[in-house]
Amino acid sequence: MGSLRGFIVTPNGTIKGRIDWEGSCIDRVIEDPSLQDEAGSKLPLILPGFIDLHVHGGAGRDVMDGGDAVSVIASLHARHGTTSMLATTMTAPMDHIKATMAAIALAMRKQDEALERAKNNPKTDPSPKTLNSRNSIEASILGVHLEGPYLSAQKLGAQPAYTKPAHRAEITALHQIAPLRVITLAPEDEANLRLMLELRDHGFCVQLGHSNASYEQACEAFQCGARSVTHLFNAMSGLHHRAPGLVGAALAHAIYAEVIPDLLHVHPGAIRAAYRAIPSLYAVTDATAAAGMPDGEYSLGEQRVFRCLGAVRLADGTLAGSALTMDEAFRNLVSIGLRVEEASAMLSSRPAAMLDLKDRGSIVPGARADLVVFGAECLQLRQVVIAGQLIDPAL
Ligand SMILES: [Zn+2]
Repeated sequence: MGSLRGFIVTPNGTIKGRIDWEGSCIDRVIEDPSLQDEAGSKLPLILPGFIDLHVHGGAGRDVMDGGDAVSVIASLHARHGTTSMLATTMTAPMDHIKATMAAIALAMRKQDEALERAKNNPKTDPSPKTLNSRNSIEASILGVHLEGPYLSAQKLGAQPAYTKPAHRAEITALHQIAPLRVITLAPEDEANLRLMLELRDHGFCVQLGHSNASYEQACEAFQCGARSVTHLFNAMSGLHHRAPGLVGAALAHAIYAEVIPDLLHVHPGAIRAAYRAIPSLYAVTDATAAAGMPDGEYSLGEQRVFRCLGAVRLADGTLAGSALTMDEAFRNLVSIGLRVEEASAMLSSRPAAMLDLKDRGSIVPGARADLVVFGAECLQLRQVVIAGQLIDPAL
């Protein structure tokens, strides 16, 4: 049993009141307009936990490292408000991707077992105090975002040059190792385009990205079941008014699209334009090993990358993922003029809807107790609740 009081962002607007949870689920959301600030500190802001559908790394580790890397990464991002995430692979030789997926599957199994233990032994649930140890709580790993190798060699961004056309049997084999939820494809490759409807019908979310597609090719891909767009504006054909490219097709036709709001990958004005155009534009971090770490040299898949002044780049200066975390993404979106409720939707309910997750993404009774608590004044993250378990991000 747990409880939090403050300004609560619900699907029906922000209310002053209290959230109670029992075990891993929200029990009640009670409006209480009489609630007062407590002894010198203003009531906090309580939002649904953040859902990041594009995470490569954090805390100095990369998903492609295998082993316990995914767990370390999920723990780092949990302390920044991410309560669910997709572990995201890079373009690499297929054996390397398979080994990475096996490590992700193991990390997911361990999370399931821990949740099951907590459910079966509610009395032995650790108290919030003991849960504060640095690596005890992880963002829930929802599965895998396969970012490559089915990309365009012309729009690699920071991906290494192991691109190839998509192949159904290969995707099935990967999905048998760990659940594939999102697959980024470049639609200008005929083989990729031909597979899209079939992939959609099997429940995969196909995203267009790392692509040099023309507007027409991208429109055809949306008709063939593409659901979203991978880091809109970055590593794709841009919008020229006589050749609108993938960006133009996304602004004209997409329901969902990712954007990286570190204010380095995309100009705030372009984020605002996309926010107007795309009904369910949502934020991702595209975070690398450098997230949560000081300036220095890190790995991104097989590449060496450098973190400096908040950016992560290859040696030639190409942006290579980000050092962004979701709490920073929230502050950035508010800083460019989005209302708290709008920024919150981009970080929680929209990514949940994109993956068709019914049990999280909004603060409603019956949903998973995944919550983030921010100081109301400077929007500093104070607490994170994952499946009813509290973390103090400062520890
Ligand atoms: Zn990425």
